Amino acid sequence: MKSENIAAVSTPAGRGGVAVIRLSGDSPLCVAEKMFLPSGKTKVADFEPYRMYPGEIVAEGFKDYGLCVFFRAPHSFTGEDVVEFHCHGGTSIARGVLSRALSLGCRAAERGEFTKRAFLNGKLSLSSAEGLIDMINGESEAEVRAGYMLYGEKLSARADAMQAEITELLAGIDADMDFPEEDIEHTDLKDIGSRMQAVADELSGMLATYGTGSKVKEGVNVVLAGRPNTGKSSLLNALLNTEKAIVSAVPGTTRDAVEGSLEIAGVRFNLFDTAGIRESGNEIENIGIARAKSLIEGADLVLFVLDGTEKMSTEDREIYEKLADKAKIVVSNKTDLAGDSGEVCDIRVSAKTGENIRALKEMMLEKSMGGYRADAAFLIEKRHYDALSAAFRELEEAVSLCGGVPLDLLGVHLKAAWDKLGEISGKTATEEIINEIFSKFCVGK
Ligand code: GDP
Repeated sequence: MKSENIAAVSTPAGRGGVAVIRLSGDSPLCVAEKMFLPSGKTKVADFEPYRMYPGEIVAEGFKDYGLCVFFRAPHSFTGEDVVEFHCHGGTSIARGVLSRALSLGCRAAERGEFTKRAFLNGKLSLSSAEGLIDMINGESEAEVRAGYMLYGEKLSARADAMQAEITELLAGIDADMDFPEEDIEHTDLKDIGSRMQAVADELSGMLATYGTGSKVKEGVNVVLAGRPNTGKSSLLNALLNTEKAIVSAVPGTTRDAVEGSLEIAGVRFNLFDTAGIRESGNEIENIGIARAKSLIEGADLVLFVLDGTEKMSTEDREIYEKLADKAKIVVSNKTDLAGDSGEVCDIRVSAKTGENIRALKEMMLEKSMGGYRADAAFLIEKRHYDALSAAFRELEEAVSLCGGVPLDLLGVHLKAAWDKLGEISGKTATEEIINEIFSKFCVGK
């Protein structure tokens, strides 16, 4: 099939050491012949693949000294012939090199078009492409690690293996139905039932990782709650190691939620400070209070901060009761001051001296992502969770019907599960899903 030459700047716009302009299609080397003057004797047409050649890049209106490299199909990122120009990293330089490629007949690549071509040419699965975008967009180490696992086809390999098992089961059922009278070994229903259950169990194990996985992707939302002056803003600063929130000895100064993020074991935690939840006649403070309530509702974890030098007040108790169903850590602050109240808490810290802040961070990780292991595989994408959930439901249905209905009806559910599993790698994904995924990419990837 013919594939048009496309071109894009693959590095971000701005100043930097190097910018890369990438061309992919049937004949990018023919384009390179017209815009690259090698310093050495080898002509562009004779370039050995995967080797960098120095020379002059002829851009639109100027030249630059740079490098050119050719990747031969199918051993390239897109699976097509690819050429890269490495010029100096300036916005105008990169734009000029791209313009030249476009005036020589290349079309400007769409968002994610290189990766889409790689997918369509069988170089990577759909979930691998999603892993790649997760890595690129990842704002924490944990997200990059999870994206890397997807990119490395860890998930699609498991989905493919389950599909293979279902294919075998379907083949057995088909044989049974095609030759019911023959003297062949008839399908053992018990065996089918337990094999379907085994696949369902594996799916259920994978689905259970989504709770942690979605937090890896989105970050853990932590809200600091407690009455005014217990030290929430100071604690937020101690956790973030900055002076972001306003700290003041006058109660009620933290009127709005202040946001900041930190990484614990590579996982991103988004911190929100709240104004004390209390009845107030002050309108601005009331807005803050309403916001605090809605923040607490959406929080994955609440740090309920007490002033460790004082007994719990009625106000403390009221706030505490509102947190009844929430994952929370009761933090008794101000251990540096004399006169510990002796109130029950999960941890005693001092926002001022930093005492026990590290232990608090560990507790936050444990409470929100219990048993998190950096090398474990998680479902991080809702699309994957939805597809695997649907496959799981079909298998459960098949297991519950097993023995009570004709075999072909089991086959219908198995086939539906197979289709859903195929959405992971993209074998059975619709055009719409595929386009939506690649539209999330940036131009040049
Ligand atoms: P918030 O209203 O809960 O956000 O409380 P702030 O963070 O504004 O702190 C209230 C007051 O307590 C300020 O004067 C802080 O300096 C003080 N404070 C906060 N944490 C500590 C601590 O660990 N030790 C001591 N000694 N003072 C603290």
